[in-house]
Amino acid sequence: MADERAERIAESIRPFRVEPGSSVDLAKDFDPGYKAGFLRKRASLDVLRQGVQMLTEFQAKLAAQSTHGVLVVLQALDAAGKDGAIRHVMSGVNPQGVHVYSFKVPSAEELAHDYLWRYVRRLPRRGEIAIFNRSHYEEVLVVRVHQEILDHQRLPPEATADGIWHRRYRDINDWERHLVDNGFRVVKLFLNLSNEEQRTRFLRRIDLPDKNWKFSAADVRERQRWDEYQNVFSHMLSHTSTEWAPWYVIPADHKWFARIGVAAVVVNALIELDPQFPTVDEEARRGLLTVKAELENEAPHGAAPDPFQQELADAAARAEAGAHAHGHH
Ligand code: AMP
Ligand code: MG
Repeated sequence: MADERAERIAESIRPFRVEPGSSVDLAKDFDPGYKAGFLRKRASLDVLRQGVQMLTEFQAKLAAQSTHGVLVVLQALDAAGKDGAIRHVMSGVNPQGVHVYSFKVPSAEELAHDYLWRYVRRLPRRGEIAIFNRSHYEEVLVVRVHQEILDHQRLPPEATADGIWHRRYRDINDWERHLVDNGFRVVKLFLNLSNEEQRTRFLRRIDLPDKNWKFSAADVRERQRWDEYQNVFSHMLSHTSTEWAPWYVIPADHKWFARIGVAAVVVNALIELDPQFPTVDEEARRGLLTVKAELENEAPHGAAPDPFQQELADAAARAEAGAHAHGHH
């Protein structure tokens, strides 16, 4: 049954995967308004709850095993719902095992290093999930649209010479491959929003006073460069979706759909990683039983030698009695 669920999840995200080596034209290839015909908003809450539950279980094993780490990369235009997706999808996981990092305009110290430096510093440890809210991909997106940002990066002429974006794609692909080869899954999600839905969401941010803080004039300036962004996103997706770290383009016009899409892709990565609780070998197990005997000997007068074992036995007895009662119906 678990395998059936895994198969269903793998199946559901297949349409969102960017085939490595394919040439993406966002406007033609991916529909921001898609919401899988069979799903309704209300039923989606159940699906999301299941996804969150699975994430919680997997994350506990990932942390216990501490062999693999997971890097979740979230890219999107403004108002696509990155923050909400993170809040909902990660709502069940142990905060000790997850780090969210939002990358803003780089600081002077960050600009004094190579462009990947600040992202390397926020990578997950083994056993952890790190979420990049914006990521190293900004270096081939906003920086490509606003090439004046490159000037602040103080690169030598050979680094900014023709072919810079292809060299950056290569750097990024190689870096991600290095991470994957060393036990870190790289899960890449692009929340794909339509122009009209972005307009509506900006207006909402203006109309609702509690949302005003989220609105910035800069966002509207970026919106004027919509087509340029669609182009650099398409180009980036075409060149950095790899077998080891493929991109997923998640339809984002319906927030509820985007959230289950994000959850499904992250859960799928964890299913493939298949983390396990570590087990102890025979010798360690014998050691535990020796300690158990010592602890049982310390039981005060009148107390059960092992109160927890007593609880387990009681629960088993209750289950047995319940099964009996049902049998009579
Ligand atoms: P927000 O995610 O809405 O808080 O905005 C963060 C801002 O930082 C966006 O306008 C990004 O384009 C900008 N930003 C993020 N990374 C970079 C970068 N590497 N270079 C320049 N601007 C960036
Ligand atoms: Mg913003």
